[in-house]
Amino acid sequence: MARDLLIATSNRKKKSELQEILAGYDINVVSLDELEGMPDIDEDGATFADNALKKARTMAKISGMLTLADDSGLMVDALGGAPGIYSARFAGPDCNDADNNAKLLKLLGKVPKTERTARFVCVIAMAIPGSIAETAQGICEGRIIETPRGQKGFGYDPLFIPAGCTQTFAELGEGMKNQISHRGRALQAAKPLLRRLLNMEG
Ligand code: IMP
Repeated sequence: MARDLLIATSNRKKKSELQEILAGYDINVVSLDELEGMPDIDEDGATFADNALKKARTMAKISGMLTLADDSGLMVDALGGAPGIYSARFAGPDCNDADNNAKLLKLLGKVPKTERTARFVCVIAMAIPGSIAETAQGICEGRIIETPRGQKGFGYDPLFIPAGCTQTFAELGEGMKNQISHRGRALQAAKPLLRRLLNMEG
């Protein structure tokens, strides 16, 4: 029988990416909006792993389900690794993706192409209620272009060209993006962990 796995994100695009990557598993993916009374978690950790673990542990405890949470962001070398864990709220507490992208382009100004290197980082945490929680990480290297390109994806996708590609994540689309993205890689790295936790649960 398919096991329930709670995916602790309310970002529709992220959820759909994670669902596509998990498609081969005998898993019934449950999303946060299917459950009532789930709180917003304050992402106040110092690292991606701190935040992912906090989300996974808290949501597992409240839901009683095996839970997967991720924390991710963009690290730009010319900005000393910013926005990093602040990627979602880079341009302020109520900002949207367009505001964040505009701020990034402004800060990078005329930084030359060779110095616009960056990477997306994703840490996936999985937790069994009241028991263990572990993490896996995925990284996707690339660079930031000067003008947004593409309509697909979310966040900084229109500004990020992965290494070895000529198109941005927003031009590549979900199928191709999942094969090389930080989230796809983190989930690949998390598969042995997922299998282990599913066995422990049963
Ligand atoms: P989180 O929901 O706290 O993990 O915030 C992640 C933030 O990092 C998002 O709101 C985006 O701004 C950015 N981000 C993470 N992954 C991606 C991605 O795959 N594409 C574009 N932006 C991303």
